[in-house]
Amino acid sequence: MSREKISPSEIKLKNRQMIYQYVRTNTSVSKQDIVVALQLSLPTVTQNLDYLKKQNLIDTSRKIKNTGGRNATAYTYIKEAKMAIGVYITAHHINAVAVDLSGNVTGIVKQQSQFALDDDEYLKKIGMVVKEVKRQAEISDENLLGVGIAVPGLVSDDGESVLYGMTLDFTGKTRAEIAEYIPYHNRLVHDSYAAGYAETWSDHRVKNGFYISLSNSVGGSIIINQSIYEGDTQKGGEIGHMVVVPKGGERCYCGRYGCFDTVCRASILDQYTDGNLEEFFVLLKAGDKTAEALWDEYLDNLAVAVHNMRILFDGVIIVGGYVGAYIGDYMDELCARVDAHNPFDDCAKDYLMQCRYKIEATAAGAAIFFIDNFLNSI
Ligand SMILES: [Zn+2]
Repeated sequence: MSREKISPSEIKLKNRQMIYQYVRTNTSVSKQDIVVALQLSLPTVTQNLDYLKKQNLIDTSRKIKNTGGRNATAYTYIKEAKMAIGVYITAHHINAVAVDLSGNVTGIVKQQSQFALDDDEYLKKIGMVVKEVKRQAEISDENLLGVGIAVPGLVSDDGESVLYGMTLDFTGKTRAEIAEYIPYHNRLVHDSYAAGYAETWSDHRVKNGFYISLSNSVGGSIIINQSIYEGDTQKGGEIGHMVVVPKGGERCYCGRYGCFDTVCRASILDQYTDGNLEEFFVLLKAGDKTAEALWDEYLDNLAVAVHNMRILFDGVIIVGGYVGAYIGDYMDELCARVDAHNPFDDCAKDYLMQCRYKIEATAAGAAIFFIDNFLNSI
C-alpha cells in the first residue's frame, strides 16, 4: 500500500485552513496559542496570519492582556468579512436571507408573490428582493460570495437547470432565465436539499441521517458521512412520494394517489387557519378540538415516516420545514409514537431532533453553499 503524496502547496493550503479554522472556533487568540495548539512553526503561523489579515478575514486591532510582559495581539475572526445570499422562490413567496461566514442569518426580506417564471415582472421582483437584502445587510459587491437560488424542484448537478419542477410546473427552466435580474454570481439549489444542507453544515453531530422538510410540499435529504447523498438521478430523499396510503388515498400533485405529501404537507394543518400555520399552533395550544384532531392524525402519519427513515438509515432524523419550526413542544409526543413502531430498543428521543434553522432554513442553505465553497478555497 502506498501513501498518497501531499504536495507542498497542499500542505500550505491545509495549514492556512487549519489556522483560519482555529481562529474561527476560538474567536480571539494570540499567535502563541495557535503555535501551541496546532503544533506549527512560528514563521508558518505568522505568514498565514498576515495573509488572512491582508484578506480582511481577521482583525488584529485588539490586545490580549498578559500578566507581566507586553500584551499580545489578539487575532479575531470577522464573521461578516464575506457574506452570501440565499433566495427561496415558492408558490406564493420570494424570501431572501443574508448569511455570514458562521452561517448566521443576518438579514431577511420576504415578499408575497405568485410564482410566475414566464412573467418578466416576477423575475424583476426576484432581483429586487435579492438587492434589498444585500442593501439591508450592508454587503458590498466585493464581499458578496454569491446568491443561492432555492427552487421547489430537482436541480442539475451544476446548478444550471431544473430537472423536475412538477409542483409548480417549471421543469426545464434554466438558471439564466430565473436569475435574469440577479447581477451577481449565482446558482440554483434544490429546496429540500438546501434545508438539509444547512442543518448538517451547522451541526457536526449529524453524521448520518435524514432531514424531513414539512413545508408546502414534503421533501427530504439523505445525509451520509456529513454530506448530502443525492442518488443516481438527484431524486434521493424525495420522501414526499412514498406511498403511505395504498388504497383510497388523496391525489398528490405528482398525479398519483396516497403519497406521504398528501398527509404531511403543512397545508394539512393550516388549511384550517387560512394558510396561517402560526395561528394553527396557537389554536392547538389553546385546546381547539378541530386543531387537536388534525394534529393527532398528522403526528401519527409523521411517526410512521420517521420510523421508516430510521429503519432505513439508522441515523439522526431532523424534523424541519415550516411544521418543523413549530414542533418543539410536541417532540416528546412524536417520539412516543415513533417508539411504538420500533422493534429495537433505541429511543426516538436519542436520534430524533427538531431543526436548528427555524427561519428560512432553505434560503439559508442555498447561501451556505457559497460560504462552504469559500471556506474550502481560502
Ligand atoms: Zn406524489
